[in-house]
Amino acid sequence: MSKGTINVAVENIFPLIKKFLYSDHEIFLRELISNATDATLKLKHLTGIGEADVEYGNPKIEVKIDKEKKQLHIIDEGIGMTQEEVEKYINEIAFSGAEEFLEKYKDKNGEDAGIIGHFGLGFYSAFMVAGKVEIITKSYKDEPAVHWTCDGSPEYSITKSKKKERGTEIILHIAEDSTEFLEESRIRELLVKYNKFMPIPIKFGTKTETLPKPEGAKEEDKAPTREVDNIINNPNPAWTKQPTDLEAEDYKKFYRELYPMQFEEPLFNIHLNVDYPFHLTGILYFPKMTNDMSIQKDKIQLYQNQVFVTDNVEGIVPEFLTMLRGVIDSPDIPLNVSRSYLQADGAVKKISSYITRKVADKLKSLFNTDRADFEKKWNDIKIVIEYGMLTEEKFFEKAQEFALYPTVDGKHYTLAELKEKIKDAQTDKDENLVVLYASKEEEQHSYIEAAKERGYEVLLLDSPIVSHLLQKMESSNEKLTFVRVDSDHVDNLIKKDEDAISKLSEEEKETLKEFLTATIPSEKFSVQLEAMDSKANPFIITEPEFMRRMKEMQQTGGGMFGMGTMPDMYNLVVNTNHELVVEILNTKTQKKKERLVKQALDLAKLSKNLLKGEEMTAFIKRSYEMIK
Ligand code: ADP
Repeated sequence: MSKGTINVAVENIFPLIKKFLYSDHEIFLRELISNATDATLKLKHLTGIGEADVEYGNPKIEVKIDKEKKQLHIIDEGIGMTQEEVEKYINEIAFSGAEEFLEKYKDKNGEDAGIIGHFGLGFYSAFMVAGKVEIITKSYKDEPAVHWTCDGSPEYSITKSKKKERGTEIILHIAEDSTEFLEESRIRELLVKYNKFMPIPIKFGTKTETLPKPEGAKEEDKAPTREVDNIINNPNPAWTKQPTDLEAEDYKKFYRELYPMQFEEPLFNIHLNVDYPFHLTGILYFPKMTNDMSIQKDKIQLYQNQVFVTDNVEGIVPEFLTMLRGVIDSPDIPLNVSRSYLQADGAVKKISSYITRKVADKLKSLFNTDRADFEKKWNDIKIVIEYGMLTEEKFFEKAQEFALYPTVDGKHYTLAELKEKIKDAQTDKDENLVVLYASKEEEQHSYIEAAKERGYEVLLLDSPIVSHLLQKMESSNEKLTFVRVDSDHVDNLIKKDEDAISKLSEEEKETLKEFLTATIPSEKFSVQLEAMDSKANPFIITEPEFMRRMKEMQQTGGGMFGMGTMPDMYNLVVNTNHELVVEILNTKTQKKKERLVKQALDLAKLSKNLLKGEEMTAFIKRSYEMIK
């Protein structure tokens, strides 16, 4: 037996390890299983190139709890270590790694702990949960096995061991404050969280398997059973395979593996696969989206060589794509750094723009190969696409080819098609192409109908970020404007020529306006007299496009106004060529005059869905009076 002192500057490193990684103690298991996996893959490599004269076989990793002895065992059948290697790799290298790690992060608290905690400490993270750690290891080389023990002080001992089989067994003597890691359910939870897709089979206990009944067995005979290894992982997840080897059903199956509680199928998937200038594989899924953007994030899982790292991919994947699901796996993403550093990292930026491009290409090919199907899915995916157009310039450019503009009649145009379709009917006198849209079909019904009667196309744009998007579309397309159907009277939506001739004289208009502004609450409505077609409604409530859009933008973030909510602003357009308006002007009795105005105003409110509560009750009562 030999004893030694680990050569470290820090007197006792273990309390420090515990302290700095307090929030992430559970990662010790992932670290040890990663080491076991590496050791196994190294052996595979050596046997593959003929450098190791042993049978590789079907090695697995086993995790075992010994509750009585308060021990947790991690056993592999990998490359193993000789005594010399234990001294070098464990006493020197691993320890110096731990020390360096602590030096670097000693002064930082909380802020970066999340992602740092994910990587960097390796073998010594075992001391976060164990008071004493043993390594029993036998190298694939023909050398005796070694037994290393360390109780958390910088002293260790090494003796020979009788272990015959190749590989390494790590024994953790779980500390009093970490007994949760002796619970089967807790270990299972960790294995599923971090090791679900690791490349070497991981055994955790056994399970009973039912075998087919032997021939001639009676109905009441029990089927025979046998105990088999309980393998908790899928060592060959779909993303590690070639797209050409996978069918649509395989992708769906993998989706269910990733999200067992998710019953809805994904709409489509994108297989990522790059070797240069960085390594990245993965599968992204487009799930059905709702209009609530906040609740659907944090579903993409980040792996490093099939080891789970995090499900917060902010900074690595462009923000608009964090609404997708799936996995990305890259050994090139630096994980022991802070998020702000990550976002500035060149390789990470390239990864982010690669993913954006891949998603755009996929959408384009879906659009090209089966447009009808793409149109059908549009409603479920538009939020991601529109958000991407808004936030990523490159994506905005590419999206011109597949972004769709649905109409209230269920047609879908690209922008180019739409322009072509409406250019004759919807170009105004200043050569602006005016695109009309509605946001709520039911509420804006009368306005939509009025526009359709003129032969105009009306789009149905109902995402929460549409006002931002339209703002962007207008600024990047000259002479293109978007106007919601209820923002003005249909005559004024697309101004073709000068106003119709007014039936009222200037003087009459003056009198009328005076009366109306006195009767109608001015804090809600600003009255505008307009000479329109005599068949157009007498009173029309409109919501000016600009003000409304600004208000919406403010509600969904951004926009021009920082603080405070903006009030609703309506215009009351009064058609001076309508009979009723002329009658209002000419009626002598004040009471009747007021009643006509009230009734007309209520009808206008009704068609804009603004008549509610007390006003509605009064309106109904008044209407009955009038038809008596
Ligand atoms: P890292 O894995 O980042 O190199 P670790 O501290 O986890 O750092 O391990 C240090 C070294 O100890 C490893 O590089 C490896 O050579 C050796 N090692 C650790 N665990 C095992 C194991 N289960 N089998 C063989 N070698 C191991």
